[in-house]
Amino acid sequence: KGADGNYLVTLIPGDGIGPEIAESVKKIFAAAKRAQPYLGGVEGIESVERESGKEGVAAHSRDEKAPISWEEVDVTPILKDGKTVIPDRAIESVKKNTVALKGPLATPIGKGHVSLNLTLRRTFSLFANVRPCVSIQGFKTPYDNVNTVLIRENTEGEYSGIEHEIVDGVVQSIKLITYEASERVARYAFHYASENGRNKVTAVHKANIMKMSDGMFLTACRAVAKDYPNIAYDEDLLDRVCLRIAQDPSPYADRVMVMPNLYGDILSDLSAGLIGGLGLTPSGNIGKDASIFEAVHGSAPDIEGKGLANPTALLLSSLMMLRHMGLNEFADKIEKAALTTIAEGKAITRDLGGKAGTKEYTDAILAKLAKL
Ligand code: NAD
Repeated sequence: KGADGNYLVTLIPGDGIGPEIAESVKKIFAAAKRAQPYLGGVEGIESVERESGKEGVAAHSRDEKAPISWEEVDVTPILKDGKTVIPDRAIESVKKNTVALKGPLATPIGKGHVSLNLTLRRTFSLFANVRPCVSIQGFKTPYDNVNTVLIRENTEGEYSGIEHEIVDGVVQSIKLITYEASERVARYAFHYASENGRNKVTAVHKANIMKMSDGMFLTACRAVAKDYPNIAYDEDLLDRVCLRIAQDPSPYADRVMVMPNLYGDILSDLSAGLIGGLGLTPSGNIGKDASIFEAVHGSAPDIEGKGLANPTALLLSSLMMLRHMGLNEFADKIEKAALTTIAEGKAITRDLGGKAGTKEYTDAILAKLAKL
C-alpha cells in the first residue's frame, strides 16, 4: 500500500488505443464508491465505542473510492547493451507493487525485436493465463449461455521456443513439459475453482497421442486433485472439447478447464468467439512474483486516436484484478454499471453495433455508477 493507504498498482497504458482505454478505466475507478456506508474512524474500534454508549461518535457514511492508486509506467523499449529491453523503472514498479494492469503492446514485426509481452511473462514468471468468457446480456451472439474459465500454462509446452533445422528441409520444434510447471498451473486451477464457486476442474489434453508430455501434465493434475477432495476432476480430449463447446457451451459453466500452452491459446480464442470477440474478453497473467491483467486484444492501430475504442475488455481485466486483490465489492459494482450500459444498448461502441465513442460509453457507465 502507498502512503495514502491505497493499493499501489502499476498501470502500463501501452500502445495504440491503450492510453484511450486506460483513461476510461481510470475515470471509472475514480467514480466507483464503496457500497456499504462506512462508519468512520478506525474499523472495528468505533463500533465498540458506540456499543459501549460512548457519546460524540456519530456514524456517518464516507465517500470511499476504489482504494487503488495507479503508478503509471512506460514500457517503450530502450536499447541496453545492444538489446531492446523494457526500462528498469517499469520492471521495478511491477516488482514492487506485484499487481499491474496493462494495455496492449504493439509487437514490431522483423528481426531483432523481442516481444515485450513475452519479456514480461518471463521476467515475472507469469505461469498461468486465466481467460474467463461470459456471455454479455444485450450483445447478441449465437450463444446466450457462455460462462467458461480457461487456464492456460503460460511458460512452456509448444511455446518453449526451442526449434532447429536438423538438415535442409527438416525442422524440429521441441514441446517441453515439466512436472513442476504442470503441477503449478494445476494447483492454481484448483485454487481458482475453489475460490470462485466452480465445482470441477477438467484437464484438456491430447495424451492419447502425446503420451509422455501430455501424460505427465495429466499425472500432475491428478496428484493435485487429491488435495482438493471437494472439487471434482476429470479429463477430456482437446478436439472433443472444441466440438462440444461449439455445439453447446452451457455444460462448461460449472468448471475450470486447465491445459498446456498451445491448446489454451487456441481454445481461449474459440471461447472468446462464442461471446462476441475481442472487445469483451479480459485476461489475467498470474505469476510467482507478480500478476498482470490485460485485455486479450491488441493495440488496434486502425482506430488509434479516433476515440472509437471499446474499453470493456480492459475494464473487465481490471475487475479480475480487483477480485484477485480481494476487492470484490468494487468489482461487482463497476461490473454492474458496465454490463447494464451494454444491455441497454443506447451508448455502446461501434464494435458492438452501437454508435458511441469511447467517451460517450465511459460517461454512460459513470452515470450508472453515480446511481448505484
Ligand atoms: P488487434 O486486436 O489490435 O485488432 C484486431 C481488430 O479488432 C481491429 O480491427 C481492431 O480495430 C479491433 N479491436 C481490437 N480491440 C478493440 C477494441 N478494444 N475496441 C474496438 N475494436 C477493437 O489485433 P492486430 O491488429 O492483429 O494487432 C495489432 C498490434 O497489437 C500488433 O502489433 C500485435 O502484435 C499487438 N497485439 C498485442 C497484444 C497484447 O499486448 N496483449 C495482443 C494481441 C496483439
